[in-house]
Amino acid sequence: MISAQNTIRPRPHTTYRSFVEAHIRQSIAQCYQCGKCTAGCPVAYTMELTPRRVIRALQLGLENELENSSTMWICLSCLTCSARCPREINIAGVMEALRLATIGKKPTPDQKKFRLFHDLFIMSFQFSGRAYELGLGMAYNVMSGQFLNMASIIPGMLRRGKLAFLPHKSRGSETQHIFQRLEGQNKAMNQAEAGTK
Ligand code: SF4
Ligand code: SF4
Repeated sequence: MISAQNTIRPRPHTTYRSFVEAHIRQSIAQCYQCGKCTAGCPVAYTMELTPRRVIRALQLGLENELENSSTMWICLSCLTCSARCPREINIAGVMEALRLATIGKKPTPDQKKFRLFHDLFIMSFQFSGRAYELGLGMAYNVMSGQFLNMASIIPGMLRRGKLAFLPHKSRGSETQHIFQRLEGQNKAMNQAEAGTK
């Protein structure tokens, strides 16, 4: 039986909740836990905290659970959850905010793995405009020390044309331009912040 003592009460003002709500400019109190976000998320089955549970953890102020979760690094930013939410909560934005909020913290071993993959994916996209799967997989295996991770499926994928030997170079210059603009914006923001201190 649940007693009043061990009931977790919602906490409207915690560090992560305030940061997330400022980032998405919405109140996550709007969430009524219907679970449509999790039901549509293509990678929810790999997450220990699904999107619905992330929102609940924010509502309840479960900061440790959020900080030790890998969910925000597994998230693909596909926006399916945000599109399905009947309360129009920007859940993909919540994941982005949690990545920003935890980026300077010491990662757990799982977070380290997912963050490495995340960073390599972004680098691959920045370089060629599309993910270069073979290079990404090889770089991940070398840098994570799992040299033969999934190596057995590579010959079959190459044979069926599911993996390319060389990176696609079609939109590389366009994406590099986008990244340069983002870097410029970040620099300007940092300078503006430094000026207000
Ligand atoms: S879909 Fe929206 S309202 Fe439903 S659980 Fe997810 S965040 Fe909450
Ligand atoms: S944006 Fe992230 S959390 Fe939302 S459905 Fe896509 S992968 Fe899942």
